[in-house]
Amino acid sequence: MSVDFLKKPTILSEGVYLQLVVNLKLLDDTIIRSNEPEEVLTFSYHSPINNRFIIPWRKVKGKVRRMVMEKQRGLGIEPHCHLKDDLCMKCPSCFLFGGTGETSRAKVSYNILARVFGETFISKEEVGDIQPYTENAVDEKTLTTGQALMSIIPVPRETEFFGVITLKDPTKEMTSILADNFQRLTRLGARSVEWGRVKTEILGYKLSDREELTAYDLIQSQNLPKLDTIKSLKLPNVDKSYTNLDLSVKKLLKENKLIT
Ligand SMILES: [Zn+2]
Repeated sequence: MSVDFLKKPTILSEGVYLQLVVNLKLLDDTIIRSNEPEEVLTFSYHSPINNRFIIPWRKVKGKVRRMVMEKQRGLGIEPHCHLKDDLCMKCPSCFLFGGTGETSRAKVSYNILARVFGETFISKEEVGDIQPYTENAVDEKTLTTGQALMSIIPVPRETEFFGVITLKDPTKEMTSILADNFQRLTRLGARSVEWGRVKTEILGYKLSDREELTAYDLIQSQNLPKLDTIKSLKLPNVDKSYTNLDLSVKKLLKENKLIT
């Protein structure tokens, strides 16, 4: 079955999946901190993968989403849209990453399903002994240490990770925005994590009627499948992509009588 990029964004899915294979390399020695008990920063897989460092997808997603919002703000598109409760529900960022209408500033009755999906990034090399240690967590506002314990894991520079990001029902404009932001991703970081600089490279893409690639399989097979390069797509200009996607999202919501 042959699949192609969508000509314009749709509300209902047409079952087209674009997957980007990303290589993320740490440029600095990095400390991963976590005081969230459910958060896993290393994982023991079965042989032959064994112990690996991992980066939870939501850490990457949070950063990329913020970058998309900053960029569109710079272009004058919905400058007041921001996380978490002030989503406008009608901009490129809300359309790509989704939102819940009722809890948004817009107080609308519709929700937007996320079109960008990711998964855990897995380090390409095995980790021998992982030595997490714990210390008292620092309160970010008062800079005092409280009762909560946090685990700290040092990750050496030049550690590389594979990740696969999926964009559902992609247009070339949506792809241009997403690819641009992954290429601009030079730092990771969120509240409970301190990462140094990173270098992110999109190794290629696959367009299919299903999700075919996973980081787990890439790590296990140690060979990349044949991928087409992002360059070969001749993606439209990024700034224009934001402007055009903004117009077509608003048009789509109006046609469906979700906004006036
Ligand atoms: Zn928005």
